[in-house]
Amino acid sequence: MGELGAKVEESRERNVDPLNSAPRHGRGFDLSVSRPSPRAKARANLRLLPLFLFWLISGVSVRWAGAEQPPDARALLEQLNQVSIDPGEIYVLRDAKITRDKVNLYFSRGFIGFFTKAGGEITGAAFTGEGEVLLIPPDPVEKRNLARFTQSPILEEQFTSVYMRFTDQTAKDLRALARKPDPEDLEQPVGFLEEWNPILSRLNPDYSVRVLQDLLGDRSLPYFLAQVHGVNLGIFAVSVDERSLEAVDVAAARRSHGRLFGDSWCSFRSRSSDARAAELIVGAVRVLNYKIDTQINADNSLEGRAELEVESHSSQDRVLAFELSRLLKVSEVMDEKGQSLAVFQNPSLEESAASARGNDWVVVVLPSPHPAGEKYGLNFNYQGNVITDVGNKVLYVGARGSWYPNRGLGDRATFDLRFHWPARLTLVATGKCVEESSSSTTKYSRWLSDGPFPVAGFNLGAYESRVRRVGNRTIEVYATREAEALLEKRHAASTAEESVPPARVGQRDLRTGLIPRVVSPLSPSALLDQVAEQGAGAVEYFERLFGPFPYPRLAISQMPGSFGQGWPELIYLPTLSFLTGAQRSEFSFGGNRGELANEIMIAHEIAHQWWGNQLGWKTYHDQWISEGLASYAAALYLSQEKGGERKFRELLRGYKRDLLSKTKEGETVESGGPIWLGGRLSNSLNPDGFTTIVYKKASWILHMLRMLMRDPVTGSDEPFLRMLRDFVEAYRGSDPSTEDFIRHAEKYVTRSPAPARNGWLDWFFSEWVYGTGIPTYKLEASARRLASGKFAVQGTIEQSQVPAEFEMVVPIVAIYGKEHKERLGKVFVTGAGARFRFTSALKPQRVAIDEDNLLAVVR
Ligand SMILES: [Zn+2]
Repeated sequence: MGELGAKVEESRERNVDPLNSAPRHGRGFDLSVSRPSPRAKARANLRLLPLFLFWLISGVSVRWAGAEQPPDARALLEQLNQVSIDPGEIYVLRDAKITRDKVNLYFSRGFIGFFTKAGGEITGAAFTGEGEVLLIPPDPVEKRNLARFTQSPILEEQFTSVYMRFTDQTAKDLRALARKPDPEDLEQPVGFLEEWNPILSRLNPDYSVRVLQDLLGDRSLPYFLAQVHGVNLGIFAVSVDERSLEAVDVAAARRSHGRLFGDSWCSFRSRSSDARAAELIVGAVRVLNYKIDTQINADNSLEGRAELEVESHSSQDRVLAFELSRLLKVSEVMDEKGQSLAVFQNPSLEESAASARGNDWVVVVLPSPHPAGEKYGLNFNYQGNVITDVGNKVLYVGARGSWYPNRGLGDRATFDLRFHWPARLTLVATGKCVEESSSSTTKYSRWLSDGPFPVAGFNLGAYESRVRRVGNRTIEVYATREAEALLEKRHAASTAEESVPPARVGQRDLRTGLIPRVVSPLSPSALLDQVAEQGAGAVEYFERLFGPFPYPRLAISQMPGSFGQGWPELIYLPTLSFLTGAQRSEFSFGGNRGELANEIMIAHEIAHQWWGNQLGWKTYHDQWISEGLASYAAALYLSQEKGGERKFRELLRGYKRDLLSKTKEGETVESGGPIWLGGRLSNSLNPDGFTTIVYKKASWILHMLRMLMRDPVTGSDEPFLRMLRDFVEAYRGSDPSTEDFIRHAEKYVTRSPAPARNGWLDWFFSEWVYGTGIPTYKLEASARRLASGKFAVQGTIEQSQVPAEFEMVVPIVAIYGKEHKERLGKVFVTGAGARFRFTSALKPQRVAIDEDNLLAVVR
């Protein structure tokens, strides 16, 4: 599964921030309405999203297998779902080998059966017998990741059966190597059809659309998939999909912690996809503008009509996939002339590697391709229910990333949104409200995006609101008078526990003489002013740090649930953020650390206006920049509050503990993979890997980068902050990569402590971003008086728990009595350890490694 797929998937997950990011012991407030959280699950399954979401440009026009008219797409898809083993096409296969890019399949001995033709072509084959798959990932990151799942950096696995789908020359190649069974043979393909045909009817639908895409489109970007039954590794899929940037992919569906994960064992570019990277990133079509008219009915159901203005990037492809929540049913898709187009939605829910990809998509087949560069319109009509009443008149607006058909959030487009909704409710959306009206039963409003947005959305409730001005910008805050039923129930229960069981409420209890506490209901809207204050404070603070707030307005809206999300100009904050700290403490939401997570959530979401919305990320590998900067910005915001320095240290120490905590396999969470692997870090081995590793380690990386850039004389952080401001300036409205960030950051490091290689900071990022490992240091030091009266402090540092080539700048402090700490200097430590010598005016009580500024274990 390629990079693009991952990009689409994680962008569905765009800026979804779980509130309590401490290790989960049972989830705090997962609402039943968020179901087994399709979004959280989707993130876990990131790498296994629909392969068919991606396709490509090319030059040659398609001829349909001799026929004059292209076959009906619907009939062809049906044929692809129905293909079975052709009884006349079963062969003996011995010592045969096929190679697809870096994938090698050896068929030692057995039987192969080719599938019946669809659209005049053989698109699959099944093999039973003995064979082996061999694949060597080209880079160390992928080798190490493969080893996490298979205990070997090389995939070398015996198999007993293989299910294959393809649009390349595989049928021709394998047929040339096979022979008809001889009646004299000792082994006969007895039961082959009976064994395979039920499997085919189950697996086919997962791959049909991807095959259809090629049969009706560009043939220069073929597909090959082998679902292998391995002797030791069980069932896994090896694919080479030339429509994906990371065309070569090995993945497996695995159950763990009661969830289904699409584990990505390894994923990398093929020779061909690497050469066509730029085209593959664009895809076959791009949405330029959305015009969406949404009617929300009294029963919370939704009827939508979306007019998409798209630009063709492929002169051959006509099978186009769009993301849309499975909860919305597409009734019709039309072209600009009003001609109805073939549409497929949500085919298979089978539990397989393919369907672990999720099925929030709709596929549209154009009657003919549009030449590259041509702009045209597509009109979608859909209806369903993504809004749920969660009690106490609180609504949960679900499918926030898939309530309209899109080509993967993150591609910037302009939005013109119109809404009609029941008059008793308030609706707030992304963009500028340019029209409003209301009748006794219905309200209407229209919202235009302030420039291209990576995503658009709305929130809805019986809201009360406040408006604040910050300079020339407006901050609006929306919250309901009551909290959702689930929260209120817990509130009532926990308050009851604290109070003495009343004989009669409000009356003195005769047994104890105490007056029981009267339970007053939670009221999120009571805190509107306070949240407005916090929001304004964060906006002003981040403007000083990162430069001007990117938009003219910001709406902060309440949402039931346990996570936040930051859309352009519209933030979703959990109800918990609209409660007092004392009220939150009732829910024992992760204790003190949970409270810290709560305190920084609003700042985190506001920081996404810069990091995530104004600047995006190039591929899933680079999402850490956005989440890391939002998380670290929120920590900085915390640090400047009263008593904030202590809270900041506490927060980062907590992050360190989480990174060092052990998985059930006994490994540290941090060792689950480098942050560069993005959403792939959440998998069956490490269910919360993405959140823990990306948010928390990236916060530490940015903190250490700040320390590297800190002026050694003045202690000023200006170089670090200027670096960030300039980064915003340089990449505004675009999607920087990790390499972009490294090359940019290097300009702000005046000298590198490590010997220069490619650039000043390569050593730092190669360890912390592309690698794993938290070093352990042991320090020994002594001080002696010099003739000058000063003290010479000298000692040694030993490094362990990381590879020998690991190098780091280790800050050393002198401690003089309680609370008095002084920086002595920095020591560059390598695998061979280091010696140091500093001079100090006073005799230190103790010399130590500054653990507040270094992600390390100090012994
Ligand atoms: Zn975030």
